[in-house]
Amino acid sequence: MTDKGSRFPLRLSSVVDKSSRGESRSSPSVHTEMPQTAMKNAAKNALHTGGRSTASVLSAAGVVNSPIRQENTSAIPLVSANIRRAMVARVMDQGVKDSLVLAALEAIPRHMFIESGLASQAYIDASLPIGHHQTISKPYIVARMIEIMRSGGELGRVLEIGTGCGYQAAVLSLVARDVYSIERIKALHELAKNNLRPMRIPNIRLHYGDGMLGLPQVAPFDGIILAAAGLEVPQALLEQLTIGGRLIAPVGGGRQVLQLIERVAKLEWKSSILEQCHFVPLRQGMV
Ligand code: SAH
Repeated sequence: MTDKGSRFPLRLSSVVDKSSRGESRSSPSVHTEMPQTAMKNAAKNALHTGGRSTASVLSAAGVVNSPIRQENTSAIPLVSANIRRAMVARVMDQGVKDSLVLAALEAIPRHMFIESGLASQAYIDASLPIGHHQTISKPYIVARMIEIMRSGGELGRVLEIGTGCGYQAAVLSLVARDVYSIERIKALHELAKNNLRPMRIPNIRLHYGDGMLGLPQVAPFDGIILAAAGLEVPQALLEQLTIGGRLIAPVGGGRQVLQLIERVAKLEWKSSILEQCHFVPLRQGMV
């Protein structure tokens, strides 16, 4: 199941080049699509990482080569940095507080994970199509789920089910030591590889396979996050959590809710139901 070619012993530092290209593509619609209030909120919330800059939050967390620092090297990337800050301000308004998660959201250039025709919508709080009837998750829900998963403590090894375009894996890479992500659609697995490659993120491993089975060869995980909704959480995943580990997943058919499951002992899990959500379905097998 492991795809050796999908490893990224590379660094995030080269992100600026592609980012700059993406900016010139998307910047013309920036002013028409971003609500002015969002930009005002961004300015108002300039100190949203507890008075520290994003770069300093990330560097305090041991994250080096944040694209934020490099984006300050030219005017165009700064436009995207400002828009991302506005997006983060809206996510904060919706209740996300974890400064490391917010900093990660601000650092990852979401527009680089979606096709160029939609890049101008990259920083609105919406899910967007990525092909094959799948979507990139809304920034709010990405942040919220990671915040919930992280509130169990420091994250070492994390498993994501549903790589899609790779955006959430990139965000996770800034808050966890090692990120493993599984995608069942080969074309999306390839897309994520292509999207992530120029970012040179060293701690992401992409796998093509059925995420419902987890990754027993790598388990246990401190955190497991599902980006697709099943009627229930697969038992195999529960068994791949460390004791004290947390799994967060959308669950349900028509009406979905976020479910948090904590493993409290070898044979004991504690479950709680959180807010409503809307995700693409979790499916068995590979295509
Ligand atoms: N994490 C993505 C979200 C992708 S949408 C982001 O950053 O936005 C959810 C993804 O889950 C889809 O790509 C879908 O193909 C995938 N998926 C659904 N069932 C799966 C399974 N059993 N194993 C792995 N991936 C699955």
